[in-house]
Amino acid sequence: MKLQRGALIGVGGCVAQQEKQKILDKVPYVDFVFGPDAIGRLPDIVGRVEQDQVRVVETAWVDSEDYVFPRADPKSSLGRCTEFVTVMKGCDNVCSFCVVPHTRGREVSRPFTEVLNEVAALTTVGVREVTLVGQNVNSYLGGVSFAQLLLRCAQVPGIERVRFTTSHPHDLSDELIDAFRVEPKLMPHFHLPVQSGSLPVLKRMKRDYTIEDYLERLGRLREARPGIAVTTDIIVGFPGETEEDFEKTWELCRQVEYDGQFAFVYSPRPRTVAGIKEAEWGVVPHEVKVKRLERLNALQKQVSLKVMSQHVGQSVEVLVEGPSRTNPDRRFGRTPHNRVVNFDGDAPIGAMVTVHIEAASQSALGGRQLAVRSLPTLPIPELRAAEESCVVA
Ligand code: SF4
Repeated sequence: MKLQRGALIGVGGCVAQQEKQKILDKVPYVDFVFGPDAIGRLPDIVGRVEQDQVRVVETAWVDSEDYVFPRADPKSSLGRCTEFVTVMKGCDNVCSFCVVPHTRGREVSRPFTEVLNEVAALTTVGVREVTLVGQNVNSYLGGVSFAQLLLRCAQVPGIERVRFTTSHPHDLSDELIDAFRVEPKLMPHFHLPVQSGSLPVLKRMKRDYTIEDYLERLGRLREARPGIAVTTDIIVGFPGETEEDFEKTWELCRQVEYDGQFAFVYSPRPRTVAGIKEAEWGVVPHEVKVKRLERLNALQKQVSLKVMSQHVGQSVEVLVEGPSRTNPDRRFGRTPHNRVVNFDGDAPIGAMVTVHIEAASQSALGGRQLAVRSLPTLPIPELRAAEESCVVA
């Protein structure tokens, strides 16, 4: 298939950064390997592979002080009304299961003026929603605090919605909670990875909060923005996790009622503390991990369906992102709480519409367009042309 299509295969990311040449040695059909700092050089890497018929490893480390953030070309966002903006990279935490501190280095934040300029540039091609991204985004320090950065992004003319991901619970500051209280353009969704509901497991993970701290912060967030959607990450079967530890995680999920969770079975990452100490702390058998994950997923299904079903019969605001994936004759968009909606309607990409919800599943809502609240900032014919020429997720 690779030969038929003339395709190249590359492996990128944190583990690629760490494993380097070993990946090429193990997998003969991989053409190139690149680390996160090499993303901006991807066109050169592909060019070298094609022209010189060589396999390439590009994992040079860029010191935090010398790192230059890739600047997105707004034209590449034409036809999209939502876009990601990188605001920081790296991580100063030391979670024992994670390779990021070894592969992405210390935290470095992008100056806030650069971020605001990029957000403003994106509005000129019709972007109305930005998601600020970084490994540990709420420890941002690029000349203003993270809360101030969010508030400033919300003031950029043309921007209707601001989101961010992903966060560490210990950086959920009072100032950030207050931003949710005062800024309606800051969307009511917070991804707050808890990883485990058991203190001994959190300690081995080197996560420096207790469940009581976590719940207290979460309670204040929910008080500041009632109804805010909360999602999380969970690792099941971390070394030494007992049945009792897992029950605490399950109970936490039942109590919090997360909108969604990204739960995975633990697998060791090279040269991490947890990987090295797995045997000492206690390997959890694979079938036990899988059973625990299934229990957690079953609970999440029920909770997600309950949360989504509450919308049936209500009207919600949706930012139109394009044709529906399941039926191209329908439209697709998201609510402020980041819930997917497929609906009957004809509003163009970038329109903000009111949708009456008639159906719900655990992962999506269905309905019909009632009214267009606001049209996209670009002239509609131009955006329609872009819409026709692009593939929308
Ligand atoms: S905070 Fe996130 S990125 Fe940083 S070490 Fe922990 S898991 Fe990895």
